[in-house]
Amino acid sequence: MKDSFNREIDYVRLSVTDRCDLRCTYCMPATGMCFLKKDEVLSFDNLVFLIKSLAKQGIKKVKITGGEPLTRRDTVALIKSIKAINGIEKVTLTTNGIQLARYAEALKEANLDGLNISIDTLDPDEFRAITRVGELKRVLTGLEKAIEVGLPNIKVNTVARGELTEAAICEIAALAKTNPIHVRFIELMPIGLGKGCPGKTQEELFSILESNYGKLRPFEQRLGNGPASYFSLPDFKGKIGFISALGHCFCAECDRIRITADGCLKTCLHMDDGCDLKGALQTEDEELLLKQVFSAIRRKPEKHHFLESQGDSRLMSQIGG
Ligand code: SF4
Repeated sequence: MKDSFNREIDYVRLSVTDRCDLRCTYCMPATGMCFLKKDEVLSFDNLVFLIKSLAKQGIKKVKITGGEPLTRRDTVALIKSIKAINGIEKVTLTTNGIQLARYAEALKEANLDGLNISIDTLDPDEFRAITRVGELKRVLTGLEKAIEVGLPNIKVNTVARGELTEAAICEIAALAKTNPIHVRFIELMPIGLGKGCPGKTQEELFSILESNYGKLRPFEQRLGNGPASYFSLPDFKGKIGFISALGHCFCAECDRIRITADGCLKTCLHMDDGCDLKGALQTEDEELLLKQVFSAIRRKPEKHHFLESQGDSRLMSQIGG
């Protein structure tokens, strides 16, 4: 599927729930969150039908996301089913890691192709403060387990908050020194509660890392589906990546669409534009479904306008992180 800027769309980010077992301050309010009702969320069958239909049109890569996808009981089974669909080459998962220790082995058996774990700090008290309810130890045990069972392509994602100290940045980066995993710093985006939060730029992070660990050398090979740029550091087992949607806009290479947990297709993380696929999915009307998908993809914007306009008013957990 090509959009009107000739970009090949072959990647779908599929949110399987808007619920999460954490309450990160930059993502959800402390109270008053209104989650989708069970019957508003796409069912297992809806999701499989959707990916089967999209795969026939050239979708090759699927990222399972949320909310927190491992709060949904059938997520591992869903990964297995999506892996079996003709044309799907890669299925990856993004998780907060809280329940990872419990699922790591099953995810390996399901042949998951890659895993992103969000870890914003390695300080247990700060982790609790950011996530309001989370225990860092559980995430680190999950990470260890994922490495132990041999899950491929493990990446730690850290939001580059303004408060991150030099010591904290180096400590997180060092996860890639001692482990065969990659650490990526993600620029804070002005979405939902992230609006107005101070962040660190790629350049600031770069200079901190170089002064502590030596020269960052560009790593040209691809390491997954995403828009990160990767660098090698001397004596590091893994790479250091940066995802900087504002400072280093990568929209020209955008290959993705998003599906929210209630079945809305979003053509861009920033924009409110999209279409509701739920009706077509529930009736399994493939012709109508694809008509809606093609028409939305034709309207996919050339790039985000984070700095000039308000964009989607939903929270990150409602859009699909
Ligand atoms: S901001 Fe929109 S157009 Fe740019 S990379 Fe993200 S989804 Fe694609």
